Amino acid sequence: MEKQATGLRKASLLALSVISMMSVDIGTAFAQDGPAKQVFGNIALPSAGPSISYGSYAKGCQSGAVALPTEGQGFQAMRLSRNRRWGQPQLISFIERFAQDAQKIGWPGLLIGDISQPRGGPMLTGHASHQIGLDVDIWWRQMPNQVMSAEQRESTPFISMLDKSKFLTVDDRKWSPLNAKLVMMAASYPQVERIFVNPAIKQKLCQSWTGDRTFMGKIRPIYGHDEHFHVRLECPPGATNCKPQAPVAAGDGCDKSLAWWFTKEPWATPKKDPNAKPPKPPRPMMVSDLPKACAAVAAAPAANGASMAVRETYAPAAAAPQAPAPARSQSGGSGVPIPPADVPRPSSRPSLN
Ligand SMILES: [Zn+2]
Repeated sequence: MEKQATGLRKASLLALSVISMMSVDIGTAFAQDGPAKQVFGNIALPSAGPSISYGSYAKGCQSGAVALPTEGQGFQAMRLSRNRRWGQPQLISFIERFAQDAQKIGWPGLLIGDISQPRGGPMLTGHASHQIGLDVDIWWRQMPNQVMSAEQRESTPFISMLDKSKFLTVDDRKWSPLNAKLVMMAASYPQVERIFVNPAIKQKLCQSWTGDRTFMGKIRPIYGHDEHFHVRLECPPGATNCKPQAPVAAGDGCDKSLAWWFTKEPWATPKKDPNAKPPKPPRPMMVSDLPKACAAVAAAPAANGASMAVRETYAPAAAAPQAPAPARSQSGGSGVPIPPADVPRPSSRPSLN
């Protein structure tokens, strides 16, 4: 870990000095302020320099991100065309460790969904958070035995753990005690700050888990999250630019905060006053709304070459550049060009805080 971080820093410094020798002005594209999701959603590669999370999970960015390899022991990354498998080294290491530990309890392997964009920040589609390289979505669907092609990783559907014919109910044909073991294991790592699951899943855990409940309070109920669970790491020790979230309340969370989800309140459509003026569309989050450092992160040279730093048009379904992670090996199997695919997008949700 230590060694790896040093290696990364060296690689980044090297990249930085190479780029500064080439008189490439890639900063101009970002010289002006703009909607943050446009700016960050159009950058294909991470910035050079040290790995740092700036700001909070739902309002920030990251520098020096590394990519999760497309596959490794116990995991495969999904939806590669989205180019969202970039995170802080601590998160990437956590995923690799958790994937191996999960196999030890009988989980065949993890399918990894979105982490963050190369430089974090808000996204053009989906997710209020995932902005600082410390959040990862892990599918409830189990990994198949074979290494999937890039095409299969685009088209393999999610599996919901809910019985959609009922109100907020886990489907026992899909859910098993192994699912519970997996998410409880995820919660047990000290660096895991909280985990988001559907309220029905949290309820299921509350009702069925007979083991140690020390870490169950980290598992929080929220809309969606029936096809994946969302793991959030705490700000790494000493990461002074990373803004921590209020800690979860003590206890197992099998309380009023969970019961509320089973009332009508969260699901009611807000009453409209027929005489009220139509609300102004919300102002987009601008780069200048993010921590100051994020403008510099957006304008910084790319970790492995400036020419690929800006993607002219953002098309999630189109071929994404094969962006190698600095100082980490890309495993084979997905070196094939990524085909156009109908990328399912999460429907809009109330923001996740
Ligand atoms: Zn998520």
